Amino acid sequence: MILPIAAYGMPVLRKVAKDIDSNYPDLKKLIEDMWETLAESHGVGLAAPQVNKDIRLFLVDSALIFDNKDEDDEDGETFPDAPGVKKVFINAKIIDRKGEEWAYNEGCLSIPKIREDIFRPEEITIEYLDENFAPHTDTFNGITARIIQHEYDHIEGKLFIDYLKPLKKKLLQRKLSDISKGNISVDYKMQFPK
Ligand SMILES: [Zn+2]
Repeated sequence: MILPIAAYGMPVLRKVAKDIDSNYPDLKKLIEDMWETLAESHGVGLAAPQVNKDIRLFLVDSALIFDNKDEDDEDGETFPDAPGVKKVFINAKIIDRKGEEWAYNEGCLSIPKIREDIFRPEEITIEYLDENFAPHTDTFNGITARIIQHEYDHIEGKLFIDYLKPLKKKLLQRKLSDISKGNISVDYKMQFPK
């Protein structure tokens, strides 16, 4: 089932999400629905708060980025994390961030049609449970670490625009207010603040 994506302005996007246990009701179905929703909206990551659930769950599909890369169009960029990952992260906690901060033009399904260069560290180490509640501690880098950090921010109630300088953010104010009022057209289902 495709779930509506919470638009900028929905209070759930500003909550620090809660840990869950394996008794969380209909978790398997929720994860399936989130994968379906992510595919439908052509995103590479989706966090539970974006489907209006304040729980520490997110999905990352960085493999999609590598699948879509045109081999003939290589500009010499190398990605240490190729071919990417497709993973579920539950109750995640980033325990280390390392490496040089680098900029990447980020967007967010909850904040459509706004993209900005955001600096984040190259490498992260994260503790999490997978969809079977098996514990993992893994280190990720490249675009995968980038997406994980973006999704991780969602379960901390944080959005990528929070990293922008005040002037830049001021310039976006009108667009952001249009998004939260539903004055935006997107090709996926969204949910707006009342
Ligand atoms: Zn996002």
